[in-house]
Amino acid sequence: MTNSGQMLTEMYISVIFLVLTLINIDAAIITRHDESECNIDPQIVSDIASYKNVTQTIMDEIKNKGLGQRMFEQFVAFLDKFGARPSGTERLEKAIDHMINLTRTHGVTDVTTEEVDAPHWVRGHESVSMISPREKNIAVIGLGSSVSTPKEGITAEAIVVQSFQELDQKANEDIKGKIVVYDVPYISYGETVQYRSQGASKAAKKGGIASLVRSITPFSIYSPHTGAQYYDAKVSKIPAAAITHEDADLLNRLQNQGEKIILKIKMFSTFDMKKSRNTIIDVKGNDDPDKVVIVSGHIDSWDVGQGAMDDGGGMIISWLAPIALHHLNLRPRRTLRAILWTAEEPGLIGAQAYLNKHINELNNIDFVMESDEGTFKPRGLTVAGSKEAQCLIVEVLKLFSPIDNLKESDYPGSDINLIINKGVPGASLMNDNERYFWFHHSEGDTLNVLNETDVIECAAFWTAASYVIADMKEDIPRKSKAV
Ligand SMILES: [Zn+2]
Repeated sequence: MTNSGQMLTEMYISVIFLVLTLINIDAAIITRHDESECNIDPQIVSDIASYKNVTQTIMDEIKNKGLGQRMFEQFVAFLDKFGARPSGTERLEKAIDHMINLTRTHGVTDVTTEEVDAPHWVRGHESVSMISPREKNIAVIGLGSSVSTPKEGITAEAIVVQSFQELDQKANEDIKGKIVVYDVPYISYGETVQYRSQGASKAAKKGGIASLVRSITPFSIYSPHTGAQYYDAKVSKIPAAAITHEDADLLNRLQNQGEKIILKIKMFSTFDMKKSRNTIIDVKGNDDPDKVVIVSGHIDSWDVGQGAMDDGGGMIISWLAPIALHHLNLRPRRTLRAILWTAEEPGLIGAQAYLNKHINELNNIDFVMESDEGTFKPRGLTVAGSKEAQCLIVEVLKLFSPIDNLKESDYPGSDINLIINKGVPGASLMNDNERYFWFHHSEGDTLNVLNETDVIECAAFWTAASYVIADMKEDIPRKSKAV
């Protein structure tokens, strides 16, 4: 790791911890917003209701007149051509160029990019085997930014814990020189992901020499799932990887049966910094071009699978919004801006770069939207913002019944949380994503997970909803502490 890379990574740690621990992605519970507390001017209500026809036109163009189908074909070709698109790689940059060219072939020319310093972590050979009490190969996937083992690997006794509390209660001598295995049952992504993101440093603090975490997924067919992890600058960096539910549970049982477990871990990786780009596609506003409504998804992915679900789907439906408006010759009052974030996976790096660059323009961001939790059957929006903002979005959603559910959340997304944290209202796409984490960050995140009809329906809803918000007379009100 270079010095500047290290500093950059450390700079983001606090923000990332906040976002990762508060990420609100368990949209299985769909709640309807309580409208009884809303008291909106009837004029505004009727203004929003007047968008019924145009939303039908937009959705019809995408769902029934071929635009959505064309988008999906181009999406499939994109996924098959580029596959996984990890931060810092040439392949990601080629994928970005591809999307820029595709945008232009649709006649949309207002495309710009903003440079981002992107972490470039590359995994090499990785293997884990159990030596004792019996020989067994253990499927493994290194966690992002993990350091390598020595060339000959690490062979040591393993100790299994089921929580940080259990780790804390152990004496340092019990952990020192051992491989710490976190066999933590999945509760929710938000609650359980801390074992992936912080497990290595917590183990190292007590003298652990490597860290293995049970994959953060509710379901496993022997699938290891990767993801970001962050080293505490004050403790030594130890190799960190994920193993399957099946093996983590096996190791735990063996320990409970009184067996001494010896594991051998070999992991190699490199790290440096590269240049990447956020891609910005605008349909400039008719009346108030400086005011912006953002729709977004991230174009990078982990280095496994095809990044089809995370976040190919969110990226492509956000990309389609300006394309569809252009096809329909619609220009909203405010600027509609699609952003294809780069380097989300190593820790919201693209979004942080955007925020830094546009920090003095936050008052001009009317609403910020993101789809990074799946593009399964759309259900509505998960919204952050004042009561008044929620009430206005309820009116917008009435245009899309039955896609009209609203769930309130202070942190509805991942990339956009950085902007929302500054007081800007925003929303993420609520969809039937109960199975999202089955495939997340694994070889299973391929096109096979997606359903064409659902993705097209998401795109239709996403474009039409963002158009209404960008065009309606009222700005989305902010909380009084707003920037
Ligand atoms: Zn994602």
